[in-house]
Amino acid sequence: MNSAVCMLDEAAARFGARVALEDEQESLTYEAYRQRALAIGSGLLAMGSARRPVVVYLPKSAGMVCAFMGAMYAGSPYAPVDSHIPMTRLQKIVESLTPGVLITSRELAENLTAIDLLGAQVALIEELSAAPVDEAAVASALAQVVDSDPIYIMYTSGSTGTPKGVTIPHRGIIDYADWVVTTFRFDETTVMANQAPFYFDNSTFDIYGSLHCGGKLVLIPDVLMLFPLRLPEFLREKEITSIFWVPTVMINVANSGALEGIELPQLRTVAFCGEVMPNKQLNLWRQALPHCTYANLYGPTEITDVCCYYIVDRAFDDADPLPIGRACENMRVVLLTEDGKEAAPGEQGELCVIGSGVALGYWNAPEITARAFTQNPLTPDYAERLYHTGDLAYWDADGLLQFCGRKDNQIKLKGNRIELGEIETAAMCVAGVENAAAIFDAEHEQIVLFVETQGTLPLRKFNLELKRYIPQYMLPAKLVPMEKLPHTANDKIDRVTLRKSLET
Ligand code: AMP
Repeated sequence: MNSAVCMLDEAAARFGARVALEDEQESLTYEAYRQRALAIGSGLLAMGSARRPVVVYLPKSAGMVCAFMGAMYAGSPYAPVDSHIPMTRLQKIVESLTPGVLITSRELAENLTAIDLLGAQVALIEELSAAPVDEAAVASALAQVVDSDPIYIMYTSGSTGTPKGVTIPHRGIIDYADWVVTTFRFDETTVMANQAPFYFDNSTFDIYGSLHCGGKLVLIPDVLMLFPLRLPEFLREKEITSIFWVPTVMINVANSGALEGIELPQLRTVAFCGEVMPNKQLNLWRQALPHCTYANLYGPTEITDVCCYYIVDRAFDDADPLPIGRACENMRVVLLTEDGKEAAPGEQGELCVIGSGVALGYWNAPEITARAFTQNPLTPDYAERLYHTGDLAYWDADGLLQFCGRKDNQIKLKGNRIELGEIETAAMCVAGVENAAAIFDAEHEQIVLFVETQGTLPLRKFNLELKRYIPQYMLPAKLVPMEKLPHTANDKIDRVTLRKSLET
């Protein structure tokens, strides 16, 4: 298999009449899904965009998944972006990517007039979906694809204020889909409820896991995510057999009391990834639904979603660490100490990853790529790429990996990956701000922004300004104006003092 879209050909051949995708508006069989993706691919090829990246700027929908597959049929990688993305951020992505085409909808197209598309063409999903299918053109575009070509570019927060385009190869997704289906024994009776936004790589578990087994993918309506109390009911109504959610959503459901007395006999797999899952809420799930398999999955975007997993096989006390387990198939994990040696069992080291899921790097950013993706220092005799996650971990006495947090300023807030530096860079763009330091207040799970300014800045007004540069989920919950930020002896912002000031 050279392209991940071959999974769609296979599923359509085997399960053509079965429902593949369902959103609030429509339900598509595998055959309809494939035909729509072929139309989109043919339309893109007719625009002459072959092999250039395709930005997909759409609200989450079944049509958006078809657009991903359509880009692949045209031999292009796709870059999914949030339909609420601030235009200044999209501008930075366009500058990084220089895409051939942006796929959008009639409703969103107007927003694009605010930015310079650098020559990229705009294609409306409504028109592309109705383009005549040109199977010969698609076949010849696909024949050019090798499995080390990029399948998608996913933009994550960058510490300097510019999002980083993580570039994943087809092979990463093909192997990942295989691992997902084998590990959780998915088949055509599998029904998944997708929570993750499509610009977040947790969604690849849902999109490619369901596709590879001929199962059904049901998109949870965005509005329902605001009402955790109603989510288990949705799972029951839709006869969902598998979920893969961020812990924040699982915690919200558990805390809402919605699990009390609920019966979900269909649900078999409850997997989670993206941040630490607290045992307290995990235990509530396990008590309410003891027949399910629970899995703690771990991985950053740079290694194709997941590289380690732990199937929860016992109860954990609230304060116990929940392991992230062992490497998935075709992936290997090494823990490196500061001097590049392998950490001994029990010793903390940086979690580094090798294997088919490792990204090709950051799009059009050789310097940051060279820092994060290096030769494996443990295998000097042959070329082997290794990704430095920036996470710290150790091997416990049972030979399982235990996660211990980060080495740097990256945080996770409600499952969203955030570089505090990106917030600071955005804050510096607001008039009147001379310097800024974003601090994560872990106790209250919120971002506090200290700003050096001579004036006063009401939070709401300030955040309205910030929203022009960064997404909603990065906005600070608290703003502390200061005449001068404290500095250390070597003139760096004194973050320790700032953090301490939150404790008082
Ligand atoms: P993202 O690239 O958005 O998937 O974020 C990746 C980061 O999320 C990792 O580098 C970890 O810091 C964190 N993370 C992912 N999965 C887990 C997990 N199961 N437990 C703890 N932290 C996790």
